[in-house]
Amino acid sequence: MFEKILIANRGEIALRVIRACREMGIRSVAVHSTADSDAMHVRMADEAICIGPASSTDSYLSMPAIISACEVTGAQAIHPGYGFLSENAAFVQMLEDHDLTFIGPSAAHIRMMGDKITAKETALALGIPVVPGSEGGVPDLDTARAAAGDMGYPVIIKATAGGGGRGMKVANTEAELENAFRTARSEAKSAFGNDEVYIEKYLQRPRHIEVQVFGDGKGNAVHLGERDCSLQRRHQKVFEEAPSPSITAEQRARIGGICADAVAKMGYSGAGTIEFLFEDGEFYFIEMNTRLQVEHPVTEAIFGVDLVREQIRVAEGLPLSFTQDDLVINGHAIEVRINAEKLPNFAPCPGKVNTFHAPGGLGVRMDSALYGGYRIPPYYDSLIGKLIVHGRDRPEALQRLRRALGELIIDGIDTTVPLFFELLDAPDVQSGDYNIHWLEKFLDRTLKA
Ligand code: ADP
Repeated sequence: MFEKILIANRGEIALRVIRACREMGIRSVAVHSTADSDAMHVRMADEAICIGPASSTDSYLSMPAIISACEVTGAQAIHPGYGFLSENAAFVQMLEDHDLTFIGPSAAHIRMMGDKITAKETALALGIPVVPGSEGGVPDLDTARAAAGDMGYPVIIKATAGGGGRGMKVANTEAELENAFRTARSEAKSAFGNDEVYIEKYLQRPRHIEVQVFGDGKGNAVHLGERDCSLQRRHQKVFEEAPSPSITAEQRARIGGICADAVAKMGYSGAGTIEFLFEDGEFYFIEMNTRLQVEHPVTEAIFGVDLVREQIRVAEGLPLSFTQDDLVINGHAIEVRINAEKLPNFAPCPGKVNTFHAPGGLGVRMDSALYGGYRIPPYYDSLIGKLIVHGRDRPEALQRLRRALGELIIDGIDTTVPLFFELLDAPDVQSGDYNIHWLEKFLDRTLKA
């Protein structure tokens, strides 16, 4: 059993992990940059240690600094949260060499799903349906033209090393291909240091459906249904819900079964998410995230399980605490991501929060590292909180979300909260009738009007 866990992250996700540790009687160690000395995770952890300057390259991404912090504090295991080092195979390898436990899958499994071409090949081999596309990378324009011609336009050019919605360009016609190809490559080069791209059929009105999976590393695995994350801006999720309003129980059982079998076959350990586009009743794999997702609380709400606790247990070598039959969906949950951004352009606006009041009451969860008087530093992600509501059904969850948003006070900075009131008024959101392109069109119509 672990006595002490170091959390290699900041913000709300660091608090999330500290809370799980405390309930399990495990001591927690926070790490922080000099810009985060006043951050909530530093105050809430049992111990805290400064690991470097504001720039995350020299602090939250510094492997030697984090390993030294483990050695100094005597932490036996590291929880990476999401982002930062959570999907870095070299880091996991380094921890193994230092006899430290990574709370997550093996370096080999991270590598398998790390670059998107290898991930698609692995998915195919495991019996998971994938988006039609080029076989492997596309080295030059002629190959791109031939591949796109074969699958038919529109196509999307994606960075092999991509993530965070960057390095993706759509070509609607052959005339647009050259420009899309060159732009995707140069964006990929500057964002990821790797200009390899591949081509996929561009689906025109899919939903984003992702399946939560859990493996014990010994060949046993379960799925925890899906999350619908179709409301996206610039390929980034804004509003997530579970279960999806567009999936039947049969479709859930089928795709969930395929995913759980694949994860069991891999011998995968810990939490993972297999992402699909869903159109006309068919699922098409796009990628697998080998970590905890931002939107994991909606799954926790409807299944009544603590996914972080489960991650820690599996890392300790314990069996899963639930079987597939134990996992029964109860009600409906929705999460909205609250960013420190100014509408309508979503310009980041860090600064001082004068007053912070979190909503409460039945079925309301607020995961946030804000407090009154806190100054949000300008160096990191603009996510400042997640509001999660749970109701007996979707209409109740929507009502509860409106009620909870009305109680929330974040004073002193601009946030994306006004957007959620607009969304709650939209008939398509009320009926659940939206796809991955819906939000962009809505923003063009509503906020810029
Ligand atoms: P990232 O790792 O950067 O998040 P993903 O491959 O997960 O990239 O894709 C992110 C989003 O981009 C998807 O949720 C979807 O909105 C859009 N997208 C990706 N591939 C396609 C495709 N083939 N057709 C249509 N949209 C796509």
